[in-house]
Amino acid sequence: MLYSQLCETYEELEKNPSRLKKTSILSDFLTKLKNSNQAEIIYLIQGRVFPDYSEKEFGISEKLAIKALSKASGISDKLIIEKWKKLGDIGQVAEETMKNKKQGILFSHPLTVKKVLDNLKKLPELEGKGTIEKKLSLISELLTSATSKESKYLVRTLLQDLRVGVAEGVLRESIVDACFNKEKLEKEEIKKIIDGVQEAYDKSTDWKLVFEQACKGLSYLEKTSLEPGKPVKVMLFLKEDTIEKGFERVGRPCLIDFKYDGFRVMINKDEKGSIKIFTRRLDNVTAQFPDIVEFAKKYVKAKTFILDAEAVGFDPKTKIYQPFQAVSQRIKRKYHIEKLVKELPIEISVFDIIYYNGKSFLKEPYKERRKIIEKIITTSSYKIKASEAIITDNIKDAENFYKKAIAAGEEGIMMKNLEAPYKPGARVGYGIKIKPEENELDLVIIKAEYGTGKRVGWLTSYTLACRDKNKFLEIGKVSTGLKEKTELGLSFKELTKKLKPLIIKESGREVEVKPKLVVTIVYQNIQSSPTYNSGYALRFPRITRLRLDRSTSDITTLNEVEKEFERLKR
Ligand code: ATP
Repeated sequence: MLYSQLCETYEELEKNPSRLKKTSILSDFLTKLKNSNQAEIIYLIQGRVFPDYSEKEFGISEKLAIKALSKASGISDKLIIEKWKKLGDIGQVAEETMKNKKQGILFSHPLTVKKVLDNLKKLPELEGKGTIEKKLSLISELLTSATSKESKYLVRTLLQDLRVGVAEGVLRESIVDACFNKEKLEKEEIKKIIDGVQEAYDKSTDWKLVFEQACKGLSYLEKTSLEPGKPVKVMLFLKEDTIEKGFERVGRPCLIDFKYDGFRVMINKDEKGSIKIFTRRLDNVTAQFPDIVEFAKKYVKAKTFILDAEAVGFDPKTKIYQPFQAVSQRIKRKYHIEKLVKELPIEISVFDIIYYNGKSFLKEPYKERRKIIEKIITTSSYKIKASEAIITDNIKDAENFYKKAIAAGEEGIMMKNLEAPYKPGARVGYGIKIKPEENELDLVIIKAEYGTGKRVGWLTSYTLACRDKNKFLEIGKVSTGLKEKTELGLSFKELTKKLKPLIIKESGREVEVKPKLVVTIVYQNIQSSPTYNSGYALRFPRITRLRLDRSTSDITTLNEVEKEFERLKR
């Protein structure tokens, strides 16, 4: 297939914000892809070239993309940067630059999708001396053959910012429409197929594989299995205000366990005995956590498994549990890991298992999964244990357990349906969390402002946004909660360091940043407000946490803001 054909689809998708229309555009495209042996193109539709579980990255900065554009167009870096400052969107910059490319630089031959895939797939493999030059040459080779429209999408893909708005739901429905003849099917059969596609994705985290299986039929989708060593999306939970409501949601009796304030890890052991650890964003953090690897090998008796657990840091001297912020620095650490293991040890509390001794346990009732956890984990204090839990149908016992959790310094409790399966990636009511009342939202920073006086040189005021489908909507500004000094966790300096590489536009003291950095905000109230395009404003917001473990798909949605607004009005 020619890359230009794919770009036409990109363009149509970009132009049509309606989910229905997007689904119809994409299903037409996928119908053409069926049985073509080119299912990999589905990754490009996602703006990737590898499956979602893969952590391979192109490692292309805006600067390098500009250099490549300059090389392919014959236009100087300087002029391109000026254009970038004016336009903001580098894809658009690429398009305009290539439109005006110098005479004499003719494009050689039409670009094929295969060539794009080939070159892009080579990028993450490059290492060591000369990497930059090699990357530059792989990209400029593509850009030289690309038309201006193709350049726009190429550069956006390289910078992992495709912006055509194909979310999971659109992909799922388009695959169903392309691979099954819905007109001939009953409503229930269609539902079964939609669920089958979603389940196959949840188990494999790979849309290409799902598409290929869907082309062959439902029974193939159903054969997709979990594989320890390959990350799976975690199941998420809802929130309730009271234990009574909790019981209503999850049924009686239910299991109640401590809600630990750490970060989520999925611990995998494959047939070769190799352990891999993934975060909820599917990042592989095995190298950062040799301690977890050791605990999983020593204290979990099973040939293969995928455990769902919370990692909580504690002070090695006082044994006091540390807030999430303290451990979070271990997630990204590349050097001196052993030192950090000693300074910031962690304890693992396992609360679920989804794969055990060669078999998926996704569909087993939670009570059976919990039994396995208790059977295979040898409790080892301050290393690994099953989460502290009770099973009860009694409000008094539940309340006492909640008090116990708070007294132990935990965040609260989780109440879980004993009969429920595990649904990867879904925020379902199979479990709910209860924690002391605090108004909290996870939001993403989309703009920031340089400070003055003693805060000069640092970005000190941040514009926050919630999400509405693929759009980010402003909901307030925050500049408190942070320290001037670098301390454990949050400081202006640290946040500035994290935001600077994300800057996409500067005007005066204000900068616009790529929506990437997620923070937890505590606030006093929500007001309706014409100032921000979400229609709401937070009163007295304060940053309490940097959430490097969260992506923008995890942040608070406009819908949730609306619900909070209504709740707080009461
Ligand atoms: P929060 O911001 O309140 O931690 P969240 O957005 O992280 O919530 P939720 O699904 O709402 O995610 O809450 C569950 C989270 O709590 C899990 O992602 C997990 O990291 C953590 N957790 C701690 N202890 C448990 C437990 N016993 N069972 C399930 N999750 C737990």
